[in-house]
Amino acid sequence: MVNLFIQACIDSKLFLLKFCRCSIEFTCIRLWSNGPKEVLEYTDYTFEQHFGCPIPSYPPRAVLYDYIIGRAKAGDIRKFIRFQTAVRYVDFDVRNNEFHITVQDLITKKSMTSLTFDYVIVATGHYTTPNVCNFEGISKFPGRVLHSHDYRGADEFVGKNLLIIGGSYSAEDIAMQCYKFGANSITISYRSCPMGFKWPDNIKEVPILERIEGRTAYFQDGTSVDNIDCIIMCTGYRHNHSYMAEHLRLYCSGNPYIPSNLYKGIFWSAQPRLAYLAMQNQLYTLNMFDIQAALVRDVFLDYVQLPDDGDEKNRQEDISQWQSREKNISIDDHEGFSDLQTDYIRDIISCCDQNTVPKFDLERATAGMYKFFQDKRENIITYRDQPFSSIFPSYKQAPLCQTPWIQNMDDSIQGFISPFQAILFQ
Ligand SMILES: Cc1cc2nc3c(=O)[nH]c(=O)nc-3n(C[C@H](O)[C@H](O)[C@H](O)COP(=O)(O)OP(=O)(O)OC[C@H]3O[C@@H](n4cnc5c(N)ncnc54)[C@H](O)[C@@H]3O)c2cc1C
Repeated sequence: MVNLFIQACIDSKLFLLKFCRCSIEFTCIRLWSNGPKEVLEYTDYTFEQHFGCPIPSYPPRAVLYDYIIGRAKAGDIRKFIRFQTAVRYVDFDVRNNEFHITVQDLITKKSMTSLTFDYVIVATGHYTTPNVCNFEGISKFPGRVLHSHDYRGADEFVGKNLLIIGGSYSAEDIAMQCYKFGANSITISYRSCPMGFKWPDNIKEVPILERIEGRTAYFQDGTSVDNIDCIIMCTGYRHNHSYMAEHLRLYCSGNPYIPSNLYKGIFWSAQPRLAYLAMQNQLYTLNMFDIQAALVRDVFLDYVQLPDDGDEKNRQEDISQWQSREKNISIDDHEGFSDLQTDYIRDIISCCDQNTVPKFDLERATAGMYKFFQDKRENIITYRDQPFSSIFPSYKQAPLCQTPWIQNMDDSIQGFISPFQAILFQ
């Protein structure tokens, strides 16, 4: 994502600096990709290129991390990033037509530095601040209560009775991971609708939690579950852009596919020299972020004009049209949301410089998404064992995992990659 943008900036001598609050580090979280790698793959840097061999479709976290960092290394972008530097405030100075940014060095913790920029791109993610819910009696629950943000692996839940609150990807992911490692029972409590998968015998879905008394959980349908050891809240995240001046700050209720005030899902409608990247709910990830970055590059460097005619009213109308489409999709219509995001990508591709925009086969990507949803509906235990075809012209099919996901306790890079590297050298 950043590669493209930085290269263009270097070419045009536009000054660019990326801030990052953390140093690059890797914490062990036993999660595996929750979607096939084929629908997120970078167009200019494939998994096969990075690992030197074809690999199965659902890699563990360490493999994805290595791939993402590998692409950044190949683009040699580290020198543009100022690590351990937090952006504390961003405002726009109308008189001088520039942004004022206040940053803090997290190592020296010294006073703030003020900088000015012509453009600002916010890419701080929105899966950092947990959305924690309150339930009657939860503060007196004698066991452990945590948010999925603080989940670090299923090992500690072996033999335990778990209550998972939430009805989406994290709930499913953590439930299956804990099942795999040997949790005794898993109760998943949903707010809107059950996920409805064919769960193993010791996993069940129940309606919303009403209250907790001791270690017993009572649900809206009058049922209850005793002897709960641990409650895991898979209740999502909140957008938190508190470092932005109020008039530039993105607010989102929940995790929408079409956030308010972002023209083309990117440009701050009232001040389009401010861009927000990757702020929507995501079915596509890395490849969509790349296209967003390409559009920001093209607009900020004046390679293309957006279709809004520079008029905020047009920008708001465009946002409203997309938002009303999202409103009409039912919450359990996964294919509907996938179509929405595919069309969104198609729209932003059409706005980019057609000679340089990263493109991929959207029809094949859609087919991949549909297969992913169908695989899960068919079998929640084996969906991660299914191979997908590349959405790039070789259309090659990924190899099968040697160990089915449900039996595979090794989530290391070596464990996952080496059988396929070995095939190369046979
Ligand atoms: C549990 C979970 C599982 C997921 N699984 C998958 C998956 O299998 N496949 C997939 O494609 N996606 C997955 N995702 C989504 C994926 O994590 C996001 O799409 C991706 O991280 C978004 O990248 P980003 O760069 O926008 O944000 P982030 O990865 O959140 O990066 C934001 C960066 O901004 C920095 N930052 C924040 N605030 C400041 C500040 N004030 N000043 C300076 N720097 C700041 C942070 O330190 C961080 O480096 C998952 C997400 C979660 C929560």
